This record gives sequence, structure tokens and C-alpha cells, in this order.
Amino acid sequence: MNQLNNKYSQLIIIGSGPAGYTAAIYAARSNIDTILVTGPERGGQLIKTNEIENWPGDYDNLSGINLMNRMFNHVKKFSINIIDDIIISVNFENRPFKINGEKYQYFCQAVIIATGSSTRLLNIPAENIYMGKGVSTCAVCDGFFYKDKHVAIVGGGNTAIEETIYLSNISRIVYLIHRRNKFRADKILISRLYEKIKKNKNIVILFNTIVLDILGNNDEMKSIKIYSKENEKTKIINISGLFIAIGHTPNSIIFSKFIDIKNNYVKINYDNNSIKTQTNIPGIFAAGDVSDHIYRQAITASASGCMAAIDAEKYLNNI
Ligand code: FAD
Ligand code: NAP
Repeated sequence: MNQLNNKYSQLIIIGSGPAGYTAAIYAARSNIDTILVTGPERGGQLIKTNEIENWPGDYDNLSGINLMNRMFNHVKKFSINIIDDIIISVNFENRPFKINGEKYQYFCQAVIIATGSSTRLLNIPAENIYMGKGVSTCAVCDGFFYKDKHVAIVGGGNTAIEETIYLSNISRIVYLIHRRNKFRADKILISRLYEKIKKNKNIVILFNTIVLDILGNNDEMKSIKIYSKENEKTKIINISGLFIAIGHTPNSIIFSKFIDIKNNYVKINYDNNSIKTQTNIPGIFAAGDVSDHIYRQAITASASGCMAAIDAEKYLNNI
């Protein structure tokens, strides 16, 4: 790689979600020479939601894009070098650590991994054929295309319930398909869903149901084949859009050669010591959803980004 493409800094933060941006604000305030690499989704997962009502202090009409733009501007206020690049591989064997992006090669003394997680898919071959042709992972981004149409959402967590409520204001019929008979989502959202069902009368819940296949003419999806675990029957339902909201997989694979990973989550808090965000390699820290299998909230991602920056500062002061 050409020498001109090399970038050097004390700290590299990989990711521009709440964890990455918060880490950058804290690193800047500690005068650490920092590069933040935004990755494929500047702003992270929250840009997919149109209403956040659990970000303390912001109780009125807070959209994901709004919150993440404000965090971006907050980081820009400091002398952080924000680079739009995607990291494709790392080498944490020697120091300085080496990080290979699509555009640049980075060298640094410390790293904060804040790569979050990506939408999980159903693992049926047709979802790749119809992705963008009826299949979507973001109701807020694509819901508009399904005005007055029949759509389905798969999942039983907060995302699936929120997307069902959102789409019921746009689409004619919304099927909510869940593999069990109990939702995992927060109680307040479940109550809201049932209120919406009473009011809009266009939501159909299919519990104990699995999506087996997506059918269409290769250019457009037309229907899905579902299986009911209750009556053990398969059925075709005609829909124009299928929204997959079945959770997320941490973006950890590029680190797995060097960093300890468990169930795809980056392992931190070694030996229960005082450096809570450190991985198995001193100088490599992780924050946010990539290392959190329990809470996975914007506020906890931000909080751990703060912790990682404080941990990184201590580490850098000691070397
Ligand atoms: P993410 O937000 O996932 O950000 C990861 C970042 O890493 C991205 O910027 C991405 O570009 C970058 N990245 C990934 N791979 C690479 C790479 N190879 N190279 C460089 N960069 C990379 N939480 C709440 O508290 N309230 C809500 O209302 C709420 N609503 C939600 C609605 C939806 C639809 C979804 C999907 C989630 C919602 N969440 C909500 C959860 C919240 O979005 C996450 O907990 C939070 O975004 C995690 O932040 P993060 O910074 O760890 O990771
Ligand atoms: P999630 O909580 O992990 O829920 C995923 C859902 O999909 C579960 O109901 C799960 O079923 C189902 N599922 C998983 N794999 C499946 C498969 N292969 N086929 C069919 N169904 C499958 O994911 P999420 O709803 O995206 O939420 C992720 C995190 O973001 C959570 O921590 C959540 O609290 C947070 N979030 C918060 C808000 C908010 O605060 N307003 C909004 C959205 C998301 P089971 O229930 O059977 O496991």
C-alpha cells in the first residue's frame, strides 16, 4: 500500500454509533490524538428508528437521525479526525497496532472497537433474491414504499413491535409473525401494540409461526409461505413487503483472529479487574453492542464508550 495512504494516531475508534461517538468526545477531552472511522453506517443502528423515547432529557419527538447528527456535530466540535472508511482486517500482533481500511491503513497505540451489530437474517435463500425487492430490514427507511399494501414483520422484540405499529399507519394489513406465543419486547410497547390493534384494526398477529419461504417472480416478492406450529399446517399469505426484525449479530468477525469472542460478542472485563472495557489484548478496548449481550441500548452503548475512552487514556498514559 502507498505510504501516502497511511494514517497515524494514538487512538483509533472503529464505529460511529452512540458508543463510538461518546468514546470520541471523551478521548478529545483528554487530548488524545484520535481518529474515528465511521464504517458502513454512519450514526449506527439508531438511524433506522424515527422515535426514541428513552434517551434521558430528550422526551419530545427525538428521531434516531436527529440524535446521531447531534452526536456527530458534538464530535466535530473537537479535533477528532472523522474518516469515512470501512475496516476490513486488523493485525494486533505487534505494536503499533495495524488496521486495514478500504481507503487507508491505520497505525495506533490503542483501539476502541465500537462496531455494534448488524441485522440478522432468516437464513432462507430467497431473502437474498428479494432483499430490496420486497424484503427489508428497516421499516422506517422503506415503509413508505408499502403504502396501502399488505406487509409482514417477523420477530417478537422491541424492533418488531415498533415497526408493526409504524407500518400499521402506512400499510393496509400488517401481519406480525412471531415464532413463540410470547413477545420479548418491553411491556409498554406490547400495550401500545394492542391499543393500536383496537384502533386501527389492520394488524394480524400470528404466534407460533415460522416463515419458510419467500415467493415471487425474482424481480418482486408476491407472498410468503408460513408454517403454524399450532396446527402444523403451511399456508401462503400474499404480501408485497416482508420486514425482518429478528435481532442482530455483533460485528466482531474481523477481530476474531486476535480478540477473544464468545457467541460473536467481543469479550471484555478480563479477570474482573478495574479496566472494565479491555479485551484480552492490553490496549484494545471494546464498547457498545459489539460487546454487550445483555442491555443493547443507546444509553448503555454511550456509557460504555465513555468507559472505554477513560480506560484507553489510562493505558496510553502508562506506555
Ligand atoms: P451501532 O449503533 O450498531 O453502531 C456501530 C457502528 O460501527 C456503525 O457506525 C457502523 O458503521 C460501524 N461499523 C461496523 N462495522 C464496521 C467496520 N468494519 N469498520 C468500521 N466501522 C464499522 N436503543 C435505545 O436505547 N432506544 C431506542 O429507541 C432504540 N431503538 C432502536 C430501533 C432499531 C430499529 C434498532 C435496530 C435498534 C434500536 N435501539 C434502541 C438499540 C440501539 O440502536 C443500539 O443499542 C445502539 O445503536 C448500539 O450502539 P453502538 O454504538 O454499540 O453500535
Ligand atoms: P431482540 O430483542 O434480540 O429480539 C429478536 C426477536 O426475533 C425475538 O423475539 C426472537 O424470538 C426473534 N428471532 C430471533 N431469531 C429468529 C429467527 N431465526 N426466526 C424468527 N424469529 C427470530 O432484537 P431487537 O428487537 O432488534 O432488539 C435488539 C436490542 O435493541 C434490544 O436490546 C432492544 O431492547 C433494543 N431496542 C430498543 C428499542 C427501544 O428501547 N425502544 C427499540 C428497538 C430495539 P424469541 O423471542 O423467541 O427469542
